[in-house]
Amino acid sequence: QTPLDIQKIRADFPVLDQLVNGRPLVYFDNAATTQKPRTVLDALTRYYEHDNANIHRGIHALAERATANFEATRRAIQTFMNAREAEEIIFTYGTTDGINLVAKTYGQTYLGPGDEIIISTLEHHSNIVPWQMLCEARGCVLKVIPINDEGELLMDEYEKLLTERTKIVSVVHVSNALGTINPIKTIIDKAHGVGAVVLIDGAQATSHIDIDVQALDCDFYVFSAHKLFGPTGMGVLYGKRAILEAMPPFRGGGEMIKEVTFEKTTYNDIPYKFEAGTPNIADVIAVKNAIEYVDSLGKENIAAYEHELLSYATDALRSIDGLRIIGNAKEKVSVISFVLDGIHHEDTGVILDQQGIAVRTGHHCTQPLMRRLGIAGTTRASFSVYNTTDEIDKLVKGLHRVKAMMA
Ligand code: PMP
Repeated sequence: QTPLDIQKIRADFPVLDQLVNGRPLVYFDNAATTQKPRTVLDALTRYYEHDNANIHRGIHALAERATANFEATRRAIQTFMNAREAEEIIFTYGTTDGINLVAKTYGQTYLGPGDEIIISTLEHHSNIVPWQMLCEARGCVLKVIPINDEGELLMDEYEKLLTERTKIVSVVHVSNALGTINPIKTIIDKAHGVGAVVLIDGAQATSHIDIDVQALDCDFYVFSAHKLFGPTGMGVLYGKRAILEAMPPFRGGGEMIKEVTFEKTTYNDIPYKFEAGTPNIADVIAVKNAIEYVDSLGKENIAAYEHELLSYATDALRSIDGLRIIGNAKEKVSVISFVLDGIHHEDTGVILDQQGIAVRTGHHCTQPLMRRLGIAGTTRASFSVYNTTDEIDKLVKGLHRVKAMMA
């Protein structure tokens, strides 16, 4: 049994306390974005009420406070990911932004015609399209690791794809559509064996799994704060110092320079080289509170409790006639995708919403994966630490109602 007091945790999330269509909200769309605890909301308000100022350049008290709090988040994230140095933490606008940064700067500089990039069938569109754009621009070749019917990567096939032309391997840590946890340590080691650099898309991993970039030895790791109980519009790109230093800047503008003349500009050191313009100061600052919140619960406690929810929900959903769970990987986080025989996922979503239950329906930005699985989309319930088995019972009841209404 979990040492966490789930009712107390629920009380930390103001948004959960509401009726939707006359029923208590059941929020099962955590893979899309997690809700925010009061400590994060308070940090946002506190910043705007007391410290609002632009950072790094000001010498007045507010600017100094804002800068100190902004940089404190960088150190908190360094600890959170176990990066060697705070300078290896680049603030971005999210996972998508981080992948585009690497594709545009590292990719455009170091890849040429015939060079190969490996991704997997499980990828979110944001870890497909930037590499396709790079392939178009530089004449590279995109290769895709296949999966089995349970939604697990075929690692033998991965090894066969690796060649001396492989320059980048970019793979999702945890699948947003199916919940599969990929064996990224093995993927990273094998890629390094042929001299490729590895980017891990951690968008779905950070709220469930301990991240240790030094132990993983990945070259890049990206995630979005909004899936980790933090605000939207803020993300992280971790990169190894030597690689970040060898990359050209991404966007040009203020902050990312050392000196500008009309003849020539010299660029700032990392991390600022990659942080042009005024960032999301308030959001960055509030991410520290999100991380402290996670730490106060304990990642292992969160993971263990979510696992209980996953087992409970898996058993409960399996008992529904005509329901098929999509993705049955041995290693999974608390995400369940499913289809109901003869019922469109959109109808399922709408009828569940009428009962106050929020789920995600559709292709989950993984169209190639849906095509591989031979389906148009799924209904996805994704659980977080504030969800309960009581809510899962409501989902099961709701699905019986969907079946009755669509019969
Ligand atoms: N990768 C994965 C696995 C995701 O789940 C998501 C968000 N659904 C993204 C990338 C993109 O994240 P963002 O929209 O925050 O940039």
